[in-house]
Amino acid sequence: MAQNTAQKLSENEIRPDDIMEKQKEAMLADIEYILKFKSDYIDVNCPGCGNDNSEVAFQKYTLDYHRCNECRTIYINPRPTEEQLADFYRNSVNYDYWNKYIFPATDEARREKIFKPRAEKVKEICEAQGFQPKTLVEVGAGFGTFCEEITKLDFVDEVIAVEPTPGLAETCRKKGLNVIESPVEQADFEDGSIDLVCSFEVLEHLFDPADFVQKCAKIMRPGGMAVITNPNGEGFDVVVSPEHSGTVDVEHLNYLNPDSMTVLFERHGFEVLEVQTPGKLDAELVRKMFLAGHMTRDDNPFLYQVLVEKWDECGDAFQDFIADNKLSSHMWTIARKK
Ligand SMILES: [Zn+2]
Repeated sequence: MAQNTAQKLSENEIRPDDIMEKQKEAMLADIEYILKFKSDYIDVNCPGCGNDNSEVAFQKYTLDYHRCNECRTIYINPRPTEEQLADFYRNSVNYDYWNKYIFPATDEARREKIFKPRAEKVKEICEAQGFQPKTLVEVGAGFGTFCEEITKLDFVDEVIAVEPTPGLAETCRKKGLNVIESPVEQADFEDGSIDLVCSFEVLEHLFDPADFVQKCAKIMRPGGMAVITNPNGEGFDVVVSPEHSGTVDVEHLNYLNPDSMTVLFERHGFEVLEVQTPGKLDAELVRKMFLAGHMTRDDNPFLYQVLVEKWDECGDAFQDFIADNKLSSHMWTIARKK
């Protein structure tokens, strides 16, 4: 598997502590901005199964995070409207900071440790299915590094980057990529024209993931494939401490899980071939909660033992166990349009 052969990844390489310190201010400004609209937030049904049967699992940033009693998806409810979200992303201080400082400072480490392995993994997934895509759309192309890397592998004829955030779309254009600057829901593709849709860490941000999956189904040809990553709401750091988990973020509205991703995609004309959680950082993230004093030995003596006292002996094996049993918060879904 690709995750076992990829080079060792440490969190500091992709999120350096010094730069991330200033990023906290940008993030706080964003949180304050999005919370300003709170009185106009609207109620939604479960983004996984569509049912209205949930209860509040926890609160963070004064927001209610519900858990669906049917499919266990966790979701912010009530939530900002689509218009408020679009406004938020256009004005986000945090995204601007990532585009100007964090992505450039970590571009090479991210390229080597995240995007090259990601592009290779997508190629391997397609090859394992005997699937040869001609057209690839990446939804939420960000800094454009995945599109660059998948282009280098020379296994698709055409790569299209869909990116709604203006600064990031501009970065993609400067890299010579074919860019559509809009949310995918509004992008003007011919129906059934796309072979492969990839989307990494986007679905959790969307007002309505079902809209997104429907749009993907519409633009894809029958037999086309979707490769999607998003956080698993049943992942280790999320379950241990949503309060201190960076995965649980004000702009992450949807936390599906391996079961509810299957429900969501099957509701909209896909066959789900596989859901996997090849995460590498879960144990380190929770270890950091202990080291930072957010949790103590008294909160969970067993985890303290594994993640702090016996880290050198147990850390890697514990992480492998998490990843192998769909318990990592980093989730991949591979689906085929019927
Ligand atoms: Zn549900």
